[in-house]
Amino acid sequence: MTKRIAICAGSFDPPTFGHLNIIERGLKIFDTLIVAVATNTSKSSILTVEDRVELLRELLKDHKGIEVTSFEGLLVDFAKQKNIMTLLRGIRTMSDYEYEQQMALVNKALYPSLETVFMMTEGQYSHLRSTFIREILLSDGSCKGMIHPLVEKKLKKSLRGISF
Ligand code: ADP
Repeated sequence: MTKRIAICAGSFDPPTFGHLNIIERGLKIFDTLIVAVATNTSKSSILTVEDRVELLRELLKDHKGIEVTSFEGLLVDFAKQKNIMTLLRGIRTMSDYEYEQQMALVNKALYPSLETVFMMTEGQYSHLRSTFIREILLSDGSCKGMIHPLVEKKLKKSLRGISF
């Protein structure tokens, strides 16, 4: 039987429970998910790509069918190299939907065999956004229930490095 395989790409800066939820639910649909950390996003990053990959590997280590890696350049080129024709994306809000729709169309124009599968966030994660996490931690707030304690620890360490 052909294996169903998809890429779940993002900046994961930091990985949140929303990301993990999409990945874990994605595993019910796909046999293998390549979790791919983008190294060239325009967003300024707080965690190194190596830290993000390491954290995701640790957080997802009990799941079969997960491969965590990073990629440079265009996601479509990474997908082509891997010969993968499906992307898994999460949707939180209408604004996510509009952005994701444009992105899916651009990706399709660049790689016509590529399909994007959207998965709606579960309610309790719809407000989780890496940018908010960064803001909360920068102001010494609590991210309890939003990120795994390992992620919080790594972020605090990294923020101390930035601030002082
Ligand atoms: P962010 O916007 O949090 O920086 P990323 O660029 O890392 O997100 O997103 C990677 C993927 O995970 C995208 O498909 C994004 O829509 C999805 N995602 C991120 N946060 C959530 C969430 N809370 N619920 C569902 N999907 C999410």
